[in-house]
Amino acid sequence: MSILSGLDALGLGNLSSYDIYEKDAMAPGDDSEVKKDGTARRRMELLSEKDYVFPKTYVCPVCDHEFKNPTMRSNKARLVGTDMDLRPRYSKVDPIKYDVICCPVCGYAALTRYFDQLTYPQARLVRESISKNFSSLEEKDILSYDDALIRYQLALGNAMVKRARTSEKAYICLKMAWLVRGKTEAFDFDAADKNGGVYQAKEQEKELIKNALEGFLSARQNETPPICGMDNVTIDYLVAALAYECGEIEISAKYIGAVLQNKGAGKRMKDMARELKEKVVAELRGS
Ligand SMILES: [Zn+2]
Repeated sequence: MSILSGLDALGLGNLSSYDIYEKDAMAPGDDSEVKKDGTARRRMELLSEKDYVFPKTYVCPVCDHEFKNPTMRSNKARLVGTDMDLRPRYSKVDPIKYDVICCPVCGYAALTRYFDQLTYPQARLVRESISKNFSSLEEKDILSYDDALIRYQLALGNAMVKRARTSEKAYICLKMAWLVRGKTEAFDFDAADKNGGVYQAKEQEKELIKNALEGFLSARQNETPPICGMDNVTIDYLVAALAYECGEIEISAKYIGAVLQNKGAGKRMKDMARELKEKVVAELRGS
């Protein structure tokens, strides 16, 4: 299924056939959507998120409208671990859900760190290709995984339309992959279709990781670090981890080597690279 398929509902179905990096054609869209089953447990979990999230006021750089966006309180959530590809895991709440700011009036959406970084020509492109067709987006205090997913799709659509740098698009794909992984871990699926939902989510995550790898590989060659706030050691490690997840073992080995040989790499990065190296070596022995 297309990673942008949810945009149909916002009047932006034409975007779902765009190429993220303007090269390879993407798979045709699939309208099937996993519905929430609204169990009591999930409602309780979402309600408890209210302690972590507050409505922050923003002014849209495209339409000048003032709006509120659900935003994580800083320092409230407790970090409990990091996945191999640097996804942070928090107890009780998933901050990844709240990292897109989205104007409910004109459809402009971006990751928090890029929201204000919009040039005048880019704002014009958003008005022409997003705002003109955008229907509306329901404003919410707290977001379910599906609410968050549609906001990420909108952010990716905006990034394509405004001709964002490759790294920005790669970063959206990476965070979307983390979001889908969070959804799978939370088992946030329609009760009638849990198995099918999980399978679809796993496929979607794979597709997003593949897109993130492609983008970060290109950004590593064409952009100067820091890239998305990451220094070159972190980007090299991330590329190694994403390549491993995609089964691109040779690329993974190459970038692990770059991290381990980099004198500027800190202990934590080197430790993570060594751990990844063990997996890569095991994979090479097995093949
Ligand atoms: Zn706006």
